[in-house]
Amino acid sequence: MTRVIASLPAMQGQALRWRRRGRSVGFVPTMGALHDGHLSLVQRARRENDIVVVSIFVNPAQFGPQEDLKKYPRPFKRDAALCRKAGVDVLFHPSPAGMYPPGFQTWVTVQNIAKPLEGEHRPGHFRGVATVVAKLFGIVQPTRAYFGKKDFQQLKVIERMAADLNLPVKIIPCPTVREAGGLARSSRNVYLSLEERLAANGVRAALRAGAELVKSKKPASPTEIERSVRSKLKRIPGARVQYARLVDPQTFGAPKRVKDDALLAAAVYFGRTRLIDNILIKR
Ligand code: AMP
Repeated sequence: MTRVIASLPAMQGQALRWRRRGRSVGFVPTMGALHDGHLSLVQRARRENDIVVVSIFVNPAQFGPQEDLKKYPRPFKRDAALCRKAGVDVLFHPSPAGMYPPGFQTWVTVQNIAKPLEGEHRPGHFRGVATVVAKLFGIVQPTRAYFGKKDFQQLKVIERMAADLNLPVKIIPCPTVREAGGLARSSRNVYLSLEERLAANGVRAALRAGAELVKSKKPASPTEIERSVRSKLKRIPGARVQYARLVDPQTFGAPKRVKDDALLAAAVYFGRTRLIDNILIKR
């Protein structure tokens, strides 16, 4: 049985009891509208821990004023059923007022790695993410927490935050789950029309072509590679490219040496739907 807990003190009390009994707790923080990507994290957490907690919280603090906070999908009953099927022990479902009570004034700001890419195009986003995840870690007290590489920069921001704040949790990176055509699974995919969804498979194809260029015997310069990926993305019907960047996957700055690993990351709009994806190029 999956127990649904909305109260912060009830969740934290339960977590402290688990800790006292020496139970390992695997934690998967989400914003709900669960899909196979989320469920792959849950399955891994199930395999590696005594207890599995999933949180569903559409965090207002990580949405910009022009973003989709209000219309973000919230199919709670369906999500709860999926959690039950996946063997989740506790579904933590706090309210915005519970998480951000009157008088709240403490924020977690990760500096340099949170500035480019998503940080540049979504000001305040990572401050909201780092703050809510730090709070969730304090409430759920997980042994291990599972994050998708689909949101690669977010994963690195969380790793940095957990290390810098000495939080006693192990961050576990998990591979991106994709649809058959290559589109990364995302709760926002439900906004796409059928045509857009098919076209959006092209994002993965463009990133893969870019990765091939990076890996070729005589690699082009980062700028040329970015230009080539951007032009491939632009040719996808209905796509509006926000960024396509080749960066160092540790610093998110310009890649230093051609021999080093690199991250190729893009954000593309289809209509009003903003999709992100990335490919980590190992060398
Ligand atoms: P979200 O509900 O979008 O905040 O995502 C919750 C967690 O699921 C984050 O760690 C995401 O990186 C992860 N996630 C989202 N989509 C995928 C996917 N397609 N594959 C793997 N992990 C994912």
